[in-house]
Amino acid sequence: MPKNKNNNKDNNKKIKNFLINFIIIFLTLAIIGSLVFAYFYIENKNKDMEVAYTELIKQIDDEKIEKIEMTAGSQTAKITYKGQNEEDEGKIVSIPDTEAFTELIQKKVQDGNNIELIQKQTNIFLRISATLIQFIPTLVILALFILIFKMQGFGGEKKIYDGEENDTNVRFDDVAGLEEEKNELVEIVDFLKNPKRYQDMGAKVPKGILLCGKPGTGKTLIAKAVAGEAGVPFISMSGSEFIEMFAGLGASRVRKLFEKAKKIAPCIIFIDEIDAIGARRTSNSGAETENNQTLNQLLVEMDGFETETSVIVLAATNRPEMLDTALLRPGRFDRQIMISTPDIKGREEILKIHSKNKKFENGVNLKSIAEDTAGFTGAELANILNESAIIATINKHKSIKQEDIEEAIKKVTVGLQKTSRVISEKDKKLTAYHEAGHAIVSKFLETSDDVKEISIVPRGVAGGYTMYKTDEDKFYISKTEMEERLVSLLGGRAAEKLALNDISTGASNDIEVATKIARDMVTIYGMSDKVGPISLKTDSPYELQIFGENIEDVVGKEIKKLIDEAYTKAQDILKKNRPILDAVSEVLIIQETISQEEFEEFFK
Ligand code: ADP
Ligand code: ZN
Repeated sequence: MPKNKNNNKDNNKKIKNFLINFIIIFLTLAIIGSLVFAYFYIENKNKDMEVAYTELIKQIDDEKIEKIEMTAGSQTAKITYKGQNEEDEGKIVSIPDTEAFTELIQKKVQDGNNIELIQKQTNIFLRISATLIQFIPTLVILALFILIFKMQGFGGEKKIYDGEENDTNVRFDDVAGLEEEKNELVEIVDFLKNPKRYQDMGAKVPKGILLCGKPGTGKTLIAKAVAGEAGVPFISMSGSEFIEMFAGLGASRVRKLFEKAKKIAPCIIFIDEIDAIGARRTSNSGAETENNQTLNQLLVEMDGFETETSVIVLAATNRPEMLDTALLRPGRFDRQIMISTPDIKGREEILKIHSKNKKFENGVNLKSIAEDTAGFTGAELANILNESAIIATINKHKSIKQEDIEEAIKKVTVGLQKTSRVISEKDKKLTAYHEAGHAIVSKFLETSDDVKEISIVPRGVAGGYTMYKTDEDKFYISKTEMEERLVSLLGGRAAEKLALNDISTGASNDIEVATKIARDMVTIYGMSDKVGPISLKTDSPYELQIFGENIEDVVGKEIKKLIDEAYTKAQDILKKNRPILDAVSEVLIIQETISQEEFEEFFK
């Protein structure tokens, strides 16, 4: 059940960054320009009015001066000579030290010099503009610094040149649910704690691990927990920060990031949103080339350090399928961990963790909240509890009540509904029957692998999934196996039809896969008696003609027959086991995932 769209955001980001850079350059140029202008303007004006300060002192001593006017905050004085015409503008003299000068004049007046000193207060506007002019050089220098720092990747809000470094105090206990995921990372923690032991043994530890999952599912949290558990520094940087850079700087940032990591190793590098730099290399124009450089640098760095460096790179993405395959090669991000949205148990645990330092009324039931929040991520659950605390405060409750939490859920849900991420009861039921259908049908097939887990927690574009245990690598697949594969694929659709008497788009991928298998059986593997062991793998209808005029009809009919038979068989199995189908679906709706053991129980 596809529910994903998320592309405009990146473009908007690029435009925003471009604008910010543009504005900074523009402002700097404007400031420099006005400074240069102001400088020459003042220079020129002063030139024809200036009288040397020493000459002024001499004229005062000679009692040639009638009046000196000074404005507060200004470095100049206006001089009126004795016998000077009323209309004549006085001369302007620049005063190096206005305080000393005022004192000097006052002393002359006391000594009997008949000189008049007028001190004017400027109006505020003039004073401010005078002050501003004084500050212009400082401002320009400041602006230049900001520009340079930004170009090099200092400065900016959370932009730190070689990654944000901190020792985290997050532990695995702070990460709820995700038990399997934590287990997969225990080995990494141990390695970071005792790199030497692993090295002495000659063991190869992965350098890069990709954490895949929706935003807010706890990827950053679990990465921090790895660092916290191992007691090593955690350096983080977001992929989008690399591309916010001026040309060529993304790559140098990557280099600096790894340089720093090697210095403080053992440590963890965390690259969030790695798809921002690691997207598949396509064209080579403009921004693309820039990203390619950054990506290439990342590849170089990953290849460059040996495992004895004890730096582990964890990267997060919501779109692993978009990543350049070069990133996923051995020695790079060759291990992937799926971080899925929490199931009902996981949600309850997350709620527990985030309710720790909040005051709840007795009888608040986190379990029922977990039931009402299917499809919510950890971040959204944390948000709900926070909202509920706010709502409780607004409502003047002594502690958080169940109703406050329910209100918070509604509030958060409204926000989510816009992005259509909340799973309705109806969808849940449909998905439950669909997945139960797959699983139960497989159970009655000879060749099918055992069911390992059934879930209605969305994963990627799928609304739910049924996982199988595969224990052997097979070289050949028999005709029976392929036929039965068709049956189990169509089990989802068959269950929908049987239980809800309606069918949905949720089965589209199953149908696509089934059709391909059936076609391959007929046209490649020669598994249809009517067509015989002939390969019809050709794109040209003309070539098909040599097998007779209606070979296409025959092929079509054979494919349809395989599918129809498989669908009927799936329906038969489910009809016979209707009570189990209902039971499994009901349990799925309640607990969202069913383990292998739990599934087996239904057949006892
Ligand atoms: P991501 O990196 O996957 O986008 P984060 O790790 O940033 O998600 O999660 C955001 C916040 O949501 C975390 O800081 C934490 O408060 C909460 N959270 C998410 N998942 C969990 C979890 N499994 N257990 C506890 N808290 C979680
Ligand atoms: Zn399916």
